Amino acid sequence: MFDDALVEGAHVVQNIIKEYELISGQQVNFDKSFIYFSACVGHSERDTITNVFGVRVATNPEKYLRLPMMVGRNKRRAFADFVDRFRRRIESWSFRYLSMGGKEVLIKAILQVIPVYVMQCFALPKTLCQKLELIMNKFWWSNNKSSKVIMAAKIGSYPSFTWRSLCNARELISDGLLWRIGSGDSVNIWNDPWLPGLAGAPDVLVWHFDASGEYSVKSGYRALLTTHRYPSDYNMEPIASYKQFYNLLWELQIPAKLKIHMWRLSKDFVPHFNNLLKRRLQVVNVCPLCKEAPEDLGHLLWSCDVLRHLWLSLNLPFDCSVRTLDGKNQLMNIFIKVDADTRKLLVISLWATWFQRNKVVHEGTQFVWQDLVGFVKRLCFCFKCE
Ligand SMILES: [Zn+2]
Repeated sequence: MFDDALVEGAHVVQNIIKEYELISGQQVNFDKSFIYFSACVGHSERDTITNVFGVRVATNPEKYLRLPMMVGRNKRRAFADFVDRFRRRIESWSFRYLSMGGKEVLIKAILQVIPVYVMQCFALPKTLCQKLELIMNKFWWSNNKSSKVIMAAKIGSYPSFTWRSLCNARELISDGLLWRIGSGDSVNIWNDPWLPGLAGAPDVLVWHFDASGEYSVKSGYRALLTTHRYPSDYNMEPIASYKQFYNLLWELQIPAKLKIHMWRLSKDFVPHFNNLLKRRLQVVNVCPLCKEAPEDLGHLLWSCDVLRHLWLSLNLPFDCSVRTLDGKNQLMNIFIKVDADTRKLLVISLWATWFQRNKVVHEGTQFVWQDLVGFVKRLCFCFKCE
């Protein structure tokens, strides 16, 4: 409560407190209460007023529940201690041993909650927020080789436009990067692409689409135009339809693992032969089911003959005769257009085909067409599709 430092004023405040106590049934604990005078109040006045209440005088504005009671003009000073606490919190963790995932949890579950508590009371100054963010950023990026971290970082659930753009470029960069091996210490020779370099020299990452080994926007652009990727791989579709696709997918009434498989397909996170080949883990990439074409995303989602036959036998109402290089977009567009039952069927057919394919690849079983059809029909029956 704020008041002029007068005895009458003090009595008014006292009456207010008493009235409050009467009405609310609560009592003010004067032993725990403090009174704080501004600099211009004389000593005799301080004494009289303190006597009226019987409370202690606070010389410096103290904290209550770790929050400053008084925030003067200099807000930075009022919250300086808070920033220190925040920093100490991070330093007290042996974060050297935390994985990226662990750091993510620490930041989201602990660090970001600390300011929320203070923000219940105070609108924190922007500079302070920036400072806290800086501390968190530093923590996030610390102790990792930055180039590797950016390549491995997840896009996250609410990416900014800049971050999304950076992430889109990563695939190109990672395709064009290779190690020139020197000592070999930094390179995983099984998984990383590499070329022999000077013995004894440190390992360096080079950009292999340019003779200098250095990345430039020009050479990146040229690489995009000349590599034999499908032309649409880098044409971002309007986000709205992607959003629609995912919304429709997640609301389907089928087990999550089927939906997650579909989601992984849409992101090309599935370890099909072409993806393994890209990572030098596979030599042949012929589709193990139809044995007619390389097994890549477009093939898995659209052009595999086994899949097309399956769809025909399920009487799916779309034109399987369309041959396209971009199976993913073709499937996504159809997925959005058809009704919920057909969507279920599509996801089930893709998952079941992948399931049977894995049996062939990993368990060495023979692919039997009737088994696949029977499997899909049983799944449809379980999940009540027409
Ligand atoms: Zn195939």
